[in-house]
Amino acid sequence: MARTPYIAANWKMNKTVAEAAEFVDALLPRIAATQHDVVVCPPFTALHEVVERRRGTAVRVAAQNMHEAESGAFTGEVSAPMLVELDVEAVVLGHSERRQFFGETDAALARKVPAALAHDLEPILCVGESEEGRDAGETETVLERQLQADLAEVADADLPRVVIAYEPIWAIGTGKVATPEQAQEACAFIRDVLRGRGAAADEVRILYGGSVKPDNAAELLALPDVDGALVGGASLDAEDFAAIVEAAG
Ligand code: PEP
Repeated sequence: MARTPYIAANWKMNKTVAEAAEFVDALLPRIAATQHDVVVCPPFTALHEVVERRRGTAVRVAAQNMHEAESGAFTGEVSAPMLVELDVEAVVLGHSERRQFFGETDAALARKVPAALAHDLEPILCVGESEEGRDAGETETVLERQLQADLAEVADADLPRVVIAYEPIWAIGTGKVATPEQAQEACAFIRDVLRGRGAAADEVRILYGGSVKPDNAAELLALPDVDGALVGGASLDAEDFAAIVEAAG
């Protein structure tokens, strides 16, 4: 089935409000004709600016994290209702940097994914193996464990509302991109796991993330089970990011 390509810019902890505004102004004319889903994930501080600047365009906005509770004594956290109030439409959950540096657990993700869905925020759930995991032949075991745990509380019928990003940790920010074979194999496996859960797996968008650049995007995005890209480093430059959107066809 035809799945709309989904290209997301994960800025991580980059760009002030002024820099975010400059990026959006540079991006919009470059992608004006696209039919793809184009999503920008700024830091919390620039969400409002990006939401307002893209109004009336096809660009959608995602946060990079979210707490599962609606409010409460959780210093430093931001909730789904706070994001929805800003007209944010999606949220990245379980990025490997959050798992690695901030103790994000599968147990927390099992609460965050349904909390996002309950507020009509589209979760972009990141999964992926470490270099040691791949070398030990554990890629599929790791992916299956993360998917089953993180999506445990999501009804099968709701799975197509979740976007999955396959992000091998060894490829993130390293310049070491997965081969097309590795990316296809892992994304097809993810689709199989979802199918095994009884989901309409052909409707789920599965992205590849890990050192996607304008010069390798077309080959990755043409793979049958790769429906888009989650782009870190190359998404900081509007021209490069627009070139990746264009590479999706
Ligand atoms: C990411 O942060 O999700 C990512 C894939 O980063 P990069 O494109 O820089 O590897």
